[in-house]
Amino acid sequence: MENLFATLQTSSTGLSVQEVQKRQQEKGKNLLPKPKRITLFQIIIHQFTNPLIYVLIAAGIISAVVGEFLDAGFIFAVLSINAMIGTYQEWKAEQNAAALQEFMKVQATVKRKEGVVKIDAEDVVVGDIVLLESGVKVSADVQLIQTNELTIEEAILTGESTAVHKNEAVLATENLPLAERVNMAYAGTTVTSGRGTGVVVAIATDTEIGKIADTLNKTAATQMPLVVRMEVFTKWISLVTLLICAIIGVIGWSNGIPLFTIFLFVIALAVSAIPEGLPIAMTVALSVGTLRMAKKNVIVRKLNAVEGLGSCTMIATDKTGTLTADQQTVSKIVLATGEQMIIEGQGYNGEGNVAFPPNDELVNRAKNLFKNAVFCNEATLVLKNNTWTHHGDAVDVALLAAAYKAELPPDKVRQEVEILMEIPFESARKYAASFYKYKNSSDILVAVKGATEEILKKCIDIDHAKIDKSVEQLTKEGFRVIAVAQGNIGTENKEVLDQNQIKDLTLLGLVALIDPIRPEVQEAIKKCHEAGIKVAMITGDHPQTAFAIAKQIGIAKTDDQIITGKVLSSYTDSQSFQQAIKDKTVFARVSPHQKQEIVKALQGLGHFVAVTGDGVNDAPALRTANIGVAMGYGTDIAKDTAAIIITDNNFASIAYGIEAGRLIYSNLRKVIYLLISTGFAELFIVVLALLFGQPLPFTAIQLLWLNLVTNGIQDIGLAFESQEHELMKEPPRSPKEPIFNAIMIESVFLSGLFMSVIVFVVWYYLLNVMQWSKFDARNTCLLLMVVLQNLHVLNCRSEKQSVFKIPFFGNLFLLGGVIAAQSIHILAMHIPFLAKILQLHPVDLQTWLMTVSIAFILLIIMEFYKFVRFGLGFPKQN
Ligand code: ADP
Ligand code: MG
Repeated sequence: MENLFATLQTSSTGLSVQEVQKRQQEKGKNLLPKPKRITLFQIIIHQFTNPLIYVLIAAGIISAVVGEFLDAGFIFAVLSINAMIGTYQEWKAEQNAAALQEFMKVQATVKRKEGVVKIDAEDVVVGDIVLLESGVKVSADVQLIQTNELTIEEAILTGESTAVHKNEAVLATENLPLAERVNMAYAGTTVTSGRGTGVVVAIATDTEIGKIADTLNKTAATQMPLVVRMEVFTKWISLVTLLICAIIGVIGWSNGIPLFTIFLFVIALAVSAIPEGLPIAMTVALSVGTLRMAKKNVIVRKLNAVEGLGSCTMIATDKTGTLTADQQTVSKIVLATGEQMIIEGQGYNGEGNVAFPPNDELVNRAKNLFKNAVFCNEATLVLKNNTWTHHGDAVDVALLAAAYKAELPPDKVRQEVEILMEIPFESARKYAASFYKYKNSSDILVAVKGATEEILKKCIDIDHAKIDKSVEQLTKEGFRVIAVAQGNIGTENKEVLDQNQIKDLTLLGLVALIDPIRPEVQEAIKKCHEAGIKVAMITGDHPQTAFAIAKQIGIAKTDDQIITGKVLSSYTDSQSFQQAIKDKTVFARVSPHQKQEIVKALQGLGHFVAVTGDGVNDAPALRTANIGVAMGYGTDIAKDTAAIIITDNNFASIAYGIEAGRLIYSNLRKVIYLLISTGFAELFIVVLALLFGQPLPFTAIQLLWLNLVTNGIQDIGLAFESQEHELMKEPPRSPKEPIFNAIMIESVFLSGLFMSVIVFVVWYYLLNVMQWSKFDARNTCLLLMVVLQNLHVLNCRSEKQSVFKIPFFGNLFLLGGVIAAQSIHILAMHIPFLAKILQLHPVDLQTWLMTVSIAFILLIIMEFYKFVRFGLGFPKQN
């Protein structure tokens, strides 16, 4: 080992800050080459790889060939502007996706000269001493120098999914295959249990995973299933539209319209009516939404979660750190004989006192308890430059804080003994132990701490009645209670220190920890309940502690809502298991395995479940859940499995995530609603004109223009809608509900139909009653169409709620889009060059006001529809 340290120029106490900086300058960061992101050039090219565009290019060329240079010029102008808008949108979505990646950095725990610190994995250097524990993702290639029950899953490198047992023994042979190098931990693999310490021997591309990184990078960017479905849908609707356009073309031609005119017209109609921008507009809506969520501590890792959030009917949350503030503090101890001592102070610091009684014998017993809690402890808590820094498990840190208060500074106390072997705390085991021996004695002792039931059954000579009563009282007050015990192994049996020797212990006492409830939680749970989402707590903690907290935050009212892991294990068939948990909201003393069973049973009961978790053992439950939610402080395994990561660990953020998910989904629907209904309207006006033997209401160029000024500018505005307060007052959406549900079909059909009928009636009236020229009538009808689409965007702002109930200035982006579209059209009327191409001329204010008033009919119709369908108040269920 000394050899290893020498070659890497490091030591067991780690590197100094200066040394780290020097090494970083020399060798760079511990990063693998990023998967190649799509380039701007590729995005631009992408805009032109669309059959519709080919047709338009062909139309432009044909126009030029037959000498219609103005038309040709305009078509190419439309093509470039479309490409520019498309490029901007796609680029924006791409940027947002890249920004999201920044939120997903992995961390590493290293030991350096200044102490144990948590750093970004990219800052690890060769020679760093890395600490590994269950759930951690190894950040670099590490040679192990110390291990304790360490197992690592290396599937990413070896393809083997069973975890490998590791140890620090130097390998006998060189050039062993990767899978057999048991004294190494490789970057990218994950620790499934135990603890370990190692020296970094390779970083970045020098690591084993770095060598194969190229092959790993080839995974395609993920897309939301909904967007994929809409791409397919767009293809279908394109085909149908093309078919209708072709029929229109044939009818128009046989009605005597010149071939070139009708050809150009049909192409323009297809371009206008086909919602080709839909998938990208949806991608933008999605990326705007997920980035907005990330900034509020909700990181979406798997895009299908966005769709799922709106369907979530149940949240199964853990307690510690999510519902509580994660400020574990020891507030009381109770000795085995029943004497209580209060401890002052709060949080992860050693400031405060223990109210020791004036009785030396009791004080000594209390001090022995604190000491054993320090010996059996994996955390650190130090005061440096007047600030307390801590590292490790919250309960362990709290116990160290208590030791300081008992005037037993952990560092000093630890020097009195030699630690021989440790059994680390794992949630499934519910206790931790540490074998040690005082330096002036040969007796081997063991310090054990953990869940009361686990410890008490290993103790002898205890006054059960008294202890049980203390436990009950403390848990009912909401304290998390831990028992601390001590055992004497004697001087023999040194060779076989293991779990089996943890028996016949002497109980030292109980430790009562309080972890204040997060202030936002109560409100967030209320919000979930209003949104038809059930909230349940799944915890490894004592049922009474769990219930006390559940009651305060509104998860449970009566204690028949509690069920424990022990009771759960008595149900063998899934039917009775489901029945048993049906009305329960507090699941206590639950093992990680049972957590997964509970999730399955909830799904069996028809729930769409979001599950939170942090540990290695939560991974199966997170995977089973409809939406796996990992906490920011959680282990890398949990985060890798989860669909969503909550970086501030706060339950309120989960509630916010659900709201945001619902909003994104609803915004996607708005974009679809707008694009499909306006496309339908454009198509149907032409059908009406042909049916009633009227001339075509627009020229080809006018249709292209319409598509450009309205859809191109307005649809993205809907992606920025943020004001739907009523979203959380509705019940969850059924996961089976298609995006084209009854409401969508009705809205699209009604608005499309009326938009076309309104324009057609005006067209007919101007031509036949007012005897206007086609030129003048088209001028007005096109303006009317633009105004209609401007106003229709307002309809689309909510599917159910009245336009007038949505704050008018609530979405400036949208408002700006609407005003821009209208202004550009008016401007085109006044710029002679454009007016000539588009066959427009300025209208007077009176005509403009007239068109606006006529367009309002659509708004009134859709308001009426919403009123009849959903009423005035909060929307009824679908
Ligand atoms: P949860 O996180 O749901 O509250 P855990 O599975 O983490 O539950 O813990 C289960 C029980 O194990 C706790 O109620 C406590 O009694 C005990 N425990 C928790 N942390 C430690 C620890 N660091 N050392 C010993 N025992 C612990
Ligand atoms: Mg825990």
